Amino acid sequence: MDRPEIGISFAPELRLFVASPRREGRTTVRTDGASTLGHVVESLGVPLTEVGALLVGGRPVPDAHVPADGDEVAVHGVTRPQQLAGPPRFLLDIHLGTLTRRLRLLGIDAAYENPDVGDAALAARSAAEQRVMLTRDRGLLRRRELWAGGYVYSHRPAEQLRDVLSRFAPPIVPWSRCTSCNGLLHHATKASLHGRLRDGTEHSYDVFAECADCGQVYWRGAHHASLNAVVEAALHEFGPSSANNPSTSLM
Ligand SMILES: [Zn+2]
Repeated sequence: MDRPEIGISFAPELRLFVASPRREGRTTVRTDGASTLGHVVESLGVPLTEVGALLVGGRPVPDAHVPADGDEVAVHGVTRPQQLAGPPRFLLDIHLGTLTRRLRLLGIDAAYENPDVGDAALAARSAAEQRVMLTRDRGLLRRRELWAGGYVYSHRPAEQLRDVLSRFAPPIVPWSRCTSCNGLLHHATKASLHGRLRDGTEHSYDVFAECADCGQVYWRGAHHASLNAVVEAALHEFGPSSANNPSTSLM
């Protein structure tokens, strides 16, 4: 039996995943006549976590569609914001430490493994805790166990943050989560913290919060301006927390 030949084209944001001849527009590929379209797309280098609609002759088809000879396939990227099957929670790989802290600064649930636990353990945690796996590692995004995944395009933390916020639109509740451990912060007073602050800190600052998990104490300190700039930029572009989120900032 002849192997079917199909035409295929990829959305611009997916072209970095495919071999250079396929980045210019429509190319052809011969399939084995049995593989699904999802498998064909993945075998050409595109993680399915990054794929939105699959169209054949302009009509949407599922991943499980088996391409026939002459099919003209268009592979779209995910629609932003992307709908998830649960609340937006994240898991970041070892290379995304700065992005992790910035997400937490905005009150977004961002788990992080350090030291590196390996792809299998990361994928298992994504599944167990229903977290979106954020990574620049395409191999990790091909793990079947993942609950959901997102490829992080940029090397630069500021662009990485915008990418994640625009893609998943998580509610932003600044200063509500511990940047060290991802725990939730609660209000703390000088009285409740007495004896745990250096004198200079106790006398100079009024606003305190404490991590419920690790006990880290936060106050409006010397580094606040740079962190505040990250928060203000995120709020300016992506808005405050959604109206149905009752959480409030603590600082
Ligand atoms: Zn903490």
